[in-house]
Amino acid sequence: MTRMLFKNCRVWDGSGGASYPADVLVEDERIRTIATQLGQLQAAGAEVIEARGMTLMPGLVEGHSHITFINGARPTELGDTPPEEHTLIAARNARLLLDHGFTSAYSAASAKLRIDVVIRNAIEAGELPGPRLRACGPEITVTGGLGDERRAHQFRDSFAMFADGPVEVTKLARLCVREGVDSIKLNISGDDHTRLGELPRTVMSEDEVRAGVAVAHDFGRMVNAHCRAAESVKRAVRCGVDVIYHCEHADEEALDLLEAVKDRVFVGPAIGLLHTAVHEAADGTLPIQVRHGTGLGLAAAARAYPEMKKRGIRVVIGGDYGFARTPQGENARDIAHFVQHLGYSPSEALVCATRYGAELMGLGHQLGQVREGFLADLLLVDGDPVADVSILQHQSRLVAILKGGALHKLDRNALERREARAAE
Ligand SMILES: [Zn+2]
Repeated sequence: MTRMLFKNCRVWDGSGGASYPADVLVEDERIRTIATQLGQLQAAGAEVIEARGMTLMPGLVEGHSHITFINGARPTELGDTPPEEHTLIAARNARLLLDHGFTSAYSAASAKLRIDVVIRNAIEAGELPGPRLRACGPEITVTGGLGDERRAHQFRDSFAMFADGPVEVTKLARLCVREGVDSIKLNISGDDHTRLGELPRTVMSEDEVRAGVAVAHDFGRMVNAHCRAAESVKRAVRCGVDVIYHCEHADEEALDLLEAVKDRVFVGPAIGLLHTAVHEAADGTLPIQVRHGTGLGLAAAARAYPEMKKRGIRVVIGGDYGFARTPQGENARDIAHFVQHLGYSPSEALVCATRYGAELMGLGHQLGQVREGFLADLLLVDGDPVADVSILQHQSRLVAILKGGALHKLDRNALERREARAAE
């Protein structure tokens, strides 16, 4: 048995309550004891880590991951990347997520059919470092829908798969399931920024959505959907979709529908891409329709998400890291975006990044909180993330990263510096 004792931590436990001082004992893959009487815990043979008031918190969960995204400027680059190179990039991205404190990642789509699946399998077999991963298939889209990068006059591969009509959706969904995915992805609406001045359209028919959901649920898999338009959110809820992404144009009726299924459904805004387009893209670097559409989208998200929070709808952080403006590894920026744009307190945003994420992973009963008996996916953080959520963006602040009780990182120099400071 391996034992690790974190002495004198401030525990932020993921419940949303205030942090408190404690000693925490990890045994093998789980949290064994949380002792609020400091210095009392007997832990013979344990490796002792003197935390000296650093924060011990649950590992982060990326709720809308794309480990196959390659930090490109154009989506066509995904189709242009050969499968061999693409798989290596995804393996590096998986490691990068864990290096940045993400001990779990729920995929929102894989740019090729089997990449998420093989990376997940390799991580679970201990062959590659990476987060716990829920693998998704490629985005299933209709001809002309989001992700259809084909052209009539030339062959061009894409990151999506194409289906028109419920029979074709059924076949693709079954193909994804056969190849080992945990979830399928349906692009029910388009994006904000395809045509100047137009809101996104809902283009996948109700029959098509129902067909995909029926296959996935028959096989015990989940369904994720890209839904920006209000009608696409309603269609997703009516058809039984489990994870509804974006949702910024949700109107009152869509919010009511989401609220009615809040115990079953998760929502994720993937706000980073909108934030960076609106606030960080230099003048002249974005096509005018993108600048306009993302501005509308961010403003709409700032209206819809405070309302979702009020209604108790579970919202997860992350999403669409892996573009040029949102490179892989910067995913923890989302926590600050929730505070800045969506009306969340730091503590509420951190719950989205931990507890709700673990529930999305299907592991809410044993992951995402610092609780006795739970899996020891833990971060030891130099500083107080509730006082300043942005510290989680800096690898130097992540002194220890544990996944299932195994140390992925322990920065002994940081511990020694802290000890020297304490001795002064
Ligand atoms: Zn996405």
